[in-house]
Amino acid sequence: MQHRIIVLGAGYTGAVAAGRLAKRLRREDVAVTLVNAEPDFVERVRMHQLAVGQDLKPRPFSDMFAGTGVELRLAKVTGVDVDRRTVAVTGANGSEELSYDTLVYALGSGWNAQGVPGTVEHAYEIASRPGALRLRERLARLDAGQTVVVVGGGLTGLEATTEIAEARPDLDVALAVRGGLGDWLSPKGRAHLRKVFGKLGITVYEHAAVTRVEADRVATADGKTIPAAVTVWTTGFAVHPIAKATTLEVAGTGQIVVDATMRSVSHPDVYAVGDAAHAMGPGNKPLRMSCASGIPTAWQAADAIAARLTGGKLPDTPLRYFNQCISLGRKEGLIQYVTADDRAVQAVLTGRLAALYKELVCKGAAWGVANPTLGLPTRRRVTRERAARGPAVEALG
Ligand SMILES: Cc1cc2nc3c(=O)[nH]c(=O)nc-3n(C[C@H](O)[C@H](O)[C@H](O)COP(=O)(O)OP(=O)(O)OC[C@H]3O[C@@H](n4cnc5c(N)ncnc54)[C@H](O)[C@@H]3O)c2cc1C
Repeated sequence: MQHRIIVLGAGYTGAVAAGRLAKRLRREDVAVTLVNAEPDFVERVRMHQLAVGQDLKPRPFSDMFAGTGVELRLAKVTGVDVDRRTVAVTGANGSEELSYDTLVYALGSGWNAQGVPGTVEHAYEIASRPGALRLRERLARLDAGQTVVVVGGGLTGLEATTEIAEARPDLDVALAVRGGLGDWLSPKGRAHLRKVFGKLGITVYEHAAVTRVEADRVATADGKTIPAAVTVWTTGFAVHPIAKATTLEVAGTGQIVVDATMRSVSHPDVYAVGDAAHAMGPGNKPLRMSCASGIPTAWQAADAIAARLTGGKLPDTPLRYFNQCISLGRKEGLIQYVTADDRAVQAVLTGRLAALYKELVCKGAAWGVANPTLGLPTRRRVTRERAARGPAVEALG
């Protein structure tokens, strides 16, 4: 009897968790199944690049997981029953139910329209590949001088605005932010941002909370309207409603509440990682939805599962921040160094070097998915269950 581990979602964190589990446990003891809706790895951190017409390197899972022992199931997860320990999926074989002994939930997140009227009907999003491709097609049809307004001044909004302005200098590109431009950054970081935005000719609307989106404009809380042939909505991410529909304990965000080993606090055979997890970081602050903190949650979950199955020592992966890496187009960037709990410190790296650094971070994240133990030697341990049954039983069974 193998212990059945099902990992839901093959984004940055699910793919890492599955690959790492397969490197920590023996195939004869444990079956690792990775369920994902799409056949290739989506580099979500590059969706703004895809949206402006850049082509991303294809990363088929069939190559990534070849020879690893991870079984990939191409299917859409439609529900999870944590009391019966089953997952409902729909794929090429129609609807099916998969049973697990341990579940790793890593379905990530999508865009967050935040209930603002007109957003779903008129705005474009770049939190998903279909969203980025839809925007790509729309941007390609815009004529010189037409307006694009990006709403949301977080990391994704900054990256999207600068990428669009750099790729399409003929367009009139603007950013609407609720507070001040980059107001969480250090003074040097903010100054650099303003310099780059100025160079790229981006109009910034500060203290502009967008309250309505229409086909050709957005309206703000103070009664202004901003013309927008295209509105790009980047005001944070929202998790899929699947976890909330279960008996799992979830936070107000719908994320699964986990302990320090990424194990659900309500269901010990369920783990959650990445954007889907409500995990605490330094200072007892919830980790923000990011690869920066999400990938370490995947290492932590995989190693904790392996430790519990094999009787090893529980891991203690540092879940902390070092920097915020922001691309500002292809030629400029901003690396804002931060405290462990993500607050900006004085030091920044800017310019081409920062752009190069960010590019290496993106490449490194994709490399880390295909190399989930970061190149360290594979050590597959015997599970406690197998050890208890002994080699004679193993030979018979
Ligand atoms: C434009 C952009 C730029 C970003 N830049 C950065 C950055 O610079 N640094 C950083 O740290 N973070 C960045 N992020 C955030 C980062 O991409 C996410 O935090 C990260 O992708 C989360 O990883 P994940 O594995 O939790 O989810 P995801 O990467 O979203 O993966 C989820 C997986 O689950 C699959 N899935 C979802 N629903 C289903 C279903 N029902 N059935 C089957 N499969 C399903 C998806 O297809 C996907 O493969 C950026 C995000 C965006 C959109």
